[in-house]
Amino acid sequence: ISAEDFVAKTIEQIKHIDDKLHAFLSVNDSAVDQAREIDKKIKSGNKVGDCFGMPISIKDNLCIKGNKTTCASKMLENFVAPYDATVITKLKQQDAIFVGNVNMDEFAMGLTTEFSAYGPSKNPWNTEYVPGGSSGGSAVSVSAFECVASLGSDTGGSVRNPASFCSTVGYKPTYGLISRFGLISYANSIEQIGPLTRTVKDSAFLLNLISGIDPNDNTTIDNGDEDYLSGIDTGIEGKKIGIIKEMIGEGIDPAVLSATKEAISKLEKLGAVCEEVSLDMVKYSVAAYYTITATEAGSNLARYDNLRYGYDFSVEGYEFNSYISKARRKFGPEVTRRMILGGFVPSAGHAGKYFLKALKVKNKLTKEVNEAFKKFDLLIAPTVPILPFKIGEKIDDPVSLFLVDINTVTANLTGKPAISIPFSHSNGLPIGIQLLADSNQDKLLLRAAYALE
Ligand code: GLN
Repeated sequence: ISAEDFVAKTIEQIKHIDDKLHAFLSVNDSAVDQAREIDKKIKSGNKVGDCFGMPISIKDNLCIKGNKTTCASKMLENFVAPYDATVITKLKQQDAIFVGNVNMDEFAMGLTTEFSAYGPSKNPWNTEYVPGGSSGGSAVSVSAFECVASLGSDTGGSVRNPASFCSTVGYKPTYGLISRFGLISYANSIEQIGPLTRTVKDSAFLLNLISGIDPNDNTTIDNGDEDYLSGIDTGIEGKKIGIIKEMIGEGIDPAVLSATKEAISKLEKLGAVCEEVSLDMVKYSVAAYYTITATEAGSNLARYDNLRYGYDFSVEGYEFNSYISKARRKFGPEVTRRMILGGFVPSAGHAGKYFLKALKVKNKLTKEVNEAFKKFDLLIAPTVPILPFKIGEKIDDPVSLFLVDINTVTANLTGKPAISIPFSHSNGLPIGIQLLADSNQDKLLLRAAYALE
């Protein structure tokens, strides 16, 4: 099949199904023409990049030059990215085709896509249910064959959570492995761009293309041009795997627990040795996560002041506070909550009680996890403790939503790589299993995920 035919079929699928799913915020009208150019290159014997016209969807917080990039916010409704994110530059060099920008919770805050200013995406397995988030559009588009792969961002689970809810692979690499240049920041000290794909091999393939040091992001690490595909099928015989006790206890859905047990026995059959491990700090991780991320969000989102971005009305005639509150009225309810929290928790007189305490939890958790990796090669837990729920079911209860992140935030707070693999279903709704590895052990993580897949 030619690149043109393949991309044309993908666009047809989007046209056919996206009215029902609402994964896309915009579709690239030139995708088929771009694919035709790749076919021409092939025919004329020119060198073609490794993607050969692979159709990829992009979360709407990643900059593609000349494209509208809204973060699913009214604040950036008319923002056109002036440059390419590093991941986009790298994929363009490999002849990938970007089929469109996909939906998300506004500024990546949330885990259902219900906080998108442009309406929620729907779970392709049952359209009454949430697809997870915040990279919900990414997971839906991969799951519903509207693309081959997607890039999302994961601050506290936003790649892994929707991957679990929509039955795709979702992978958050070691902090620094992929450049964040051109990713619109939410909580930059812990977030990473990550692939959502239908297979583990596709994630490893994309990691090969987009990882590595970037002068535009000084947190990137040198991975020595590692090939994450080589040896991916060599198995996990003899590997020690810790089952995180705090992630399979209270509040877990029985179907999720039994899927986890099944995954563990599959790993044992493959020759791994599994044993419970306790990470005491996990019980404080969600509180620490929301304190730290709100603080960073408060600072990162301060730039949306209607002067630099989101220009809408003149400053003339306003007193400062009324001007700022009018400008900020464009943010939706979840972003507003985080901005208020992010102003309060690091403020003078409160920082010691909230922000500094959260940093202490982060440090202690990191120490605990590092200790665990002295004994274990990998850790395992369900990606999300519950099944996908109905659209609207939790939207009025932010705290109950926050708690859904309990199994995903540890990897972000500690910088460790983690992957969610589709493993099972309950009443037609997907269940994902999560593996974690030590920093820079992404290759081993992908190998284990491939074995479990
Ligand atoms: N649910 C989490 C939050 O709202 C995770 C979001 C993310 O990873 N971007 O912060």
